[in-house]
Amino acid sequence: MSGPDATGPDVAGGDATGINDLPVRDELRGKSAYGAPQLDVAVRLNTNENPYPLPEALVERIAERVRDAARTLNRYPDRDAVELRTELAKYLTRTGGHRVASENVWAANGSNEVIQQLLQTFGGPGRTAIGFEPSYSMHALIARGTGTGWISGPRHEDFTIDVRAAVRAIAEHKPDVVFITSPNNPTGTAVDTGTVLALYEAAQAAGPSMVVLDEAYGEFSHEPSLLPLIEGRPHLVLSRTMSKAFGAAGLRLGYLAAHPAVVDAVQLVRLPYHLSSVTQATALAALEHTDTLLQYVEQLKAERDRIVTELRAIGYDVTASDANFIQFGRFEDAHAAWRAILDHGVLIRDNGVPGWLRVSVGTPAENDAFLETARALHKEITA
Ligand code: PMP
Repeated sequence: MSGPDATGPDVAGGDATGINDLPVRDELRGKSAYGAPQLDVAVRLNTNENPYPLPEALVERIAERVRDAARTLNRYPDRDAVELRTELAKYLTRTGGHRVASENVWAANGSNEVIQQLLQTFGGPGRTAIGFEPSYSMHALIARGTGTGWISGPRHEDFTIDVRAAVRAIAEHKPDVVFITSPNNPTGTAVDTGTVLALYEAAQAAGPSMVVLDEAYGEFSHEPSLLPLIEGRPHLVLSRTMSKAFGAAGLRLGYLAAHPAVVDAVQLVRLPYHLSSVTQATALAALEHTDTLLQYVEQLKAERDRIVTELRAIGYDVTASDANFIQFGRFEDAHAAWRAILDHGVLIRDNGVPGWLRVSVGTPAENDAFLETARALHKEITA
C-alpha cells in the first residue's frame, strides 16, 4: 500500500488564494468568522460556559447510553428525536410554569442551529429580521448566513429595550422575524412580560411576523420563564439550550418550544437525521440528572450576585444581571482594559460594547482571581 508523498506540503494548495479570491456570496466578502479568542490562560471567563464539569455519575450514565447507541450506529438516528423531545417537554413543563408536549418541542445541534432553522424557515432572501442591540451577535450573523436582511433595533442607555422605539421600528421595517433575548447577552438584562407582549402585538400588526424569544440563559434568571406566553400565540417561539444551565456546551443541544405548527414548519428545512444518535443519547442521559445540574445553577446564581456586589463595592458600574455573566465598566478604552485584565491571567470578553466588558461566572476560586484583578486595576482602567 503506498502512502501519501512524504516530501509534499502538509496542506494542499500552496498559493496565496484567500476567501475573497473565491466566488463567495457578496454579503460574505471581506467578513471575518465569529469567535471569542480561545487563549490558554489560567482563568477563562469569556464564553459563558458552566465552569463545573458534569458529575461522575452522569459521565457514567452517558457512557452507558452512548454504548447502547453505538450498537445501532449502522442505522440512521430517530429523525424526529421523539424520546428526546418528550423528555425536554417534561423538563419545560416542570420548570417553565406551563404544560408542553413533545409536539411543542424541536431539538437541534445547539440553539444556534435552532435559530438557523428558524431563519431558514421564516427569513431568507428578500426578508428581514430585527434584534435590539447590543445583543447576541450570532442572531445577525445567522441572518447573514441565511440571506436574511438585518435591522439593528434600539435600546435604552441602561440596556433595557426601549419599547416605544422598538414598536416604532417594527411598524416601520415590518421585519419577518423579531429577536428578543432574555436574559440578554452581553448585558445580562431580563425582559419583562409586558415588553414581550408589546413587541409581539407590534409584530402581528406589522407582519404578521415570528417573534423568537432567546432564553439561552433562562435558568439563571430571577424571573420565571416566558414559556407560558406561547399559549395562544402561534407566532411566538421560545429558544433554549443545554449549553449553559446543563453544563453541556460540548454536547451541542438546543431546543425550541412553540405551537406544533412551528415544529412542523422547521421540518421543511432541517437536514434529515441532523441530530446524531450519540447526541440524542447524551442529552437523554443529562436530562436524567436535571436535579443535580440545577443545583449547580443555584451555586452560580449565588456567585453571580456576590460578584455584582463586590464589583459595585470596588467602584465599578454594573448592569443588573439575570444571567451567568456580568457586564461591568465603565472604561474609557474597553479593549485596553480587557488586555490589562488578560495580562493578569484572566480572560474575559470584549463584546465591542463601548465602555463595557463582560465576565462569565466561574468557580468561586476563578471568581476570586477575577475580583482580585478587578480590584488591583480599578483606578488604572476605569474612565
Ligand atoms: N443564544 C444566546 C443568547 C447565547 O448567548 C448563545 C451562546 N453563547 C446561544 C444562543 C447559542 O448557544 P448554543 O448554540 O450553544 O446552544
